[in-house]
Amino acid sequence: MENRKGRYGNHGGQYIPEILMPAILELEEAYEHYKNDAEFNRGLEELFNDYAGRPSRLYYAAHMTEKLGGAKIYLKREDLNHTGSHKINNVLGQCLLAKKMGKTRIIAETGAGQHGVAAATAAALMGMECEVYMGEEDTKRQALNVYRMRLLGAQVHAVTTGTGTLKDAVSEAMQEWTKRIGDTHYLLGSVVGPHPFPMMVRDFQAVISREIKQQMLEKEGRLPDAVIACVGGGSNAMGAFYHFIEDKQVRLIGCEAAGRGIHTAETAATFSTGRVGIFHGMKSYFCQDEYGQIAPVYSISAGLDYPGVGPEHSQLFDDGRAEYVAVTDDEAVDAFEYLSRTEGIIPAIESAHAVAYVMKEAPSMSKDSIVVVNISGRGDKDCAAIARYRGEKIYE
Ligand SMILES: *Cc1c(COP(=O)(O)O)cnc(C)c1O
Repeated sequence: MENRKGRYGNHGGQYIPEILMPAILELEEAYEHYKNDAEFNRGLEELFNDYAGRPSRLYYAAHMTEKLGGAKIYLKREDLNHTGSHKINNVLGQCLLAKKMGKTRIIAETGAGQHGVAAATAAALMGMECEVYMGEEDTKRQALNVYRMRLLGAQVHAVTTGTGTLKDAVSEAMQEWTKRIGDTHYLLGSVVGPHPFPMMVRDFQAVISREIKQQMLEKEGRLPDAVIACVGGGSNAMGAFYHFIEDKQVRLIGCEAAGRGIHTAETAATFSTGRVGIFHGMKSYFCQDEYGQIAPVYSISAGLDYPGVGPEHSQLFDDGRAEYVAVTDDEAVDAFEYLSRTEGIIPAIESAHAVAYVMKEAPSMSKDSIVVVNISGRGDKDCAAIARYRGEKIYE
């Protein structure tokens, strides 16, 4: 949790160019005001329930539990939300706030396009202009999401700097924000960036752990022994962990993307391979080369393909409160297929990283123990890529 303003232990802060300071301060003040505003919170709850379809279900995975033969496994079904993932929680929160602030235009970065589509959705709902920055490489790999964003009324800009991927899109969107802060809100997609983003995005996603806690008490009359979630920037994990941080008996386990393995260059496992640095406005752990430059990262999962992690995770890691494990492409693809066959639920390849860890650990856990896996999104978007991974040809 943050202590000094926007600091999480040694991490966080506001490492931004001076020109962005007024926009960040305006946002900080507005959020400090509205987060305790009854009307704002009522409005957000209404959107969560009636538009996004919350609360999402907590499903007892009986078949998986029986087959693995150890811990009792529950799945938190964020995949059932409108637009198919937890990302809707954050975009509804930030768009509602931006609207209250009198902003008429949203800009956002996107990697594979999941956050861009969610942002375009919320902007369409609230009658706001929306422009999305996406690495040129990603616009080619994810042409269908580019079409979706345009269909929703957004303008998509291909970013050609750097490696033409997510980190470049974030840099470009921040740059763009400095040019037009009067009417524009930057809708950042994870618990990263300068304060107040990591706190604000975590608060919007914390609905996940609030619901898990209540649903678990109703179903089992006690808290789970572990909560497990995949970690890209870390927003679905932060949301799933938050209300359990003070419950020290609940293990918090984040699954990062090992890609082809943490001993190869093709990895995105920040805690396993990175060190502390400053990038995108925050101090946190980052994958870096020997000169401290941000390293190119790789994962089969575009949503986990980010070279850093949110500052609150870095604090939970330093404090030993949360554990972080690395899961490879191969393990995630196996889990993607396993959950589909076993429970009839096709998980996002991001979420499959968390499922993979449970498949490894649950058999050796006692039958009295209970674990919750956050299924951050649905896997329809990944089917063609996984088919290709298995050597099948699919025409989209
Ligand atoms: C974007 C995304 C992620 C990764 O982002 P976090 O901020 O780490 O949650 C994970 N799962 C899904 C389905 C996503 O779309």
